[in-house]
Amino acid sequence: MLNLVIFGPPGAGKGTQSQKLIDKYQLVHVSTGDIFRAHIQNQTALGKQVSQIIADGNLVPDSITIAMLEEEVKKNPEAKGFIFDGFPRTVAQAEALDEFLTGINSSISVVIALDVNEDELKTRIAKRQEISGRADDAADKLVKRIDEYFTKTIHVLPYYEAQGKLSKVNGIGDIDFIFGELTAIIDNY
Ligand code: ADP
Repeated sequence: MLNLVIFGPPGAGKGTQSQKLIDKYQLVHVSTGDIFRAHIQNQTALGKQVSQIIADGNLVPDSITIAMLEEEVKKNPEAKGFIFDGFPRTVAQAEALDEFLTGINSSISVVIALDVNEDELKTRIAKRQEISGRADDAADKLVKRIDEYFTKTIHVLPYYEAQGKLSKVNGIGDIDFIFGELTAIIDNY
């Protein structure tokens, strides 16, 4: 199984690169942000539970997120591999993911971190908000999300670095060029 984690702050390009990686490697895309948004749109019990948290730019509690993630993986027993996008966002989530994958005789293969500076992130998300209208893309909520990233999520990097799984890629530049960098890392695995 090829299991990838695509990592980076809000607006780093995780979704864009994930889409291209799925096409090339036939992986199942697990984007926790997308799954939460689908629950909110369908007004499920989970959606109602998380909608305000997400709109405010806060992280959803680990217990809820981890349970949802595991359920999503279990729905795809035939998968050749997964691409985890927006998960793990805390060290507790990273530990839970390792434990869960071990339980199904699998593991994370490669973690790719897209590196983008804060000014560029703000510019990109301001543009995205005009199109997506996502409440959490509004400037004040974005500050909260970037703050959550730099206080909680960033600690996931040394966790994977210690396992020798982390590769950092410059996330600024041509989309296809960045994709080329990603595939070189994956093909080398
Ligand atoms: P981004 O554009 O910032 O990468 P996502 O679409 O991945 O955003 O996620 C949107 C929101 O969903 C996050 O700000 C957070 O509230 C919630 N969320 C998504 N994934 C997680 C996670 N792994 N843990 C906690 N909250 C999450």
